Amino acid sequence: MLSYRHGYHAGNYADVLKHAILLQTLQLMHKKDKPLVYIDTHAGAGGYALTDEFAQKTGEYLEGVAKLWDKTDLPKSLQDYVDAVRHFNEDNPEELNFYPGSPAIIDMELGPKDRMLLHELHGTDHLLLDEYFEQDKQVKVIKGDGLKGLIAAVPPLERRALVLVDPSYEIKTDYQTVAETLIKAHKRFATGVFMLWYPVVNRAQTEEMLARLAGSGIKRQLRIEQAIKPDSNEFGMTAAGLWVINPPWQLDEIATDMLDYLGKNLGQADGNVIVKWEVGE
Ligand code: SAM
Repeated sequence: MLSYRHGYHAGNYADVLKHAILLQTLQLMHKKDKPLVYIDTHAGAGGYALTDEFAQKTGEYLEGVAKLWDKTDLPKSLQDYVDAVRHFNEDNPEELNFYPGSPAIIDMELGPKDRMLLHELHGTDHLLLDEYFEQDKQVKVIKGDGLKGLIAAVPPLERRALVLVDPSYEIKTDYQTVAETLIKAHKRFATGVFMLWYPVVNRAQTEEMLARLAGSGIKRQLRIEQAIKPDSNEFGMTAAGLWVINPPWQLDEIATDMLDYLGKNLGQADGNVIVKWEVGE
């Protein structure tokens, strides 16, 4: 049974990096005027109320998006992200009460001929997601396993796709299944842009998954990571990152700028940031 609910973590430092990079990636892909499909394998509820009991219980967003909310010196990539979050709070854009999840972030930038394919397995979050996009003909919401859904969806008709794989890593085998699925999806559709979100709770476990991808023969793999604490054997996430296969041109430079700012403003002592091509051309 799934117990993870993203509402507890919405808007935390890992969401900031994930959603800000996701937004920039879509914007860079839109420089080419051709339709694309956005595939979210683990979509969550779509959007979150930061005033509800989940977010209030952990207060994680206070260490993430809330720290950027009133900043006046943001690099463009983070200004775009904060503008998107403000847009999601459009009834009262001065106050941070709601937070857009990955489907809502993409929805704000979706082109007229683009489409979205969203997967969510948790009953309640699937219902919320389904309601959110009920009237939207560009969006298909699927209650099912997103990893199987990804394999079924590629190659897409458009031959252009941005794929976000953002699991909750509740089951230990997720780390293997995710890597295997990405390798299989890439075999079927080698030109897709695949973005994998990963946590660092146990560094060895995370690196084993990433090494599997790096050693797969797939070219062009970029690591974008932010640590807020040094690696540790104690419980809890010390870093989070995105592993991007086929990132669009200039995403590496944008990520470097972004992380330079986030490292100084959202990091804690000894925090570290990495933007590194783990596999080149
Ligand atoms: N992508 C979302 C965002 O950025 O706003 C957050 C997703 S959250 C980290 C992971 C979600 O995956 C949870 O809502 C969980 O219920 C769901 N989930 C877990 N296993 C799944 C699976 N095999 N297929 C689809 N969804 C799954």
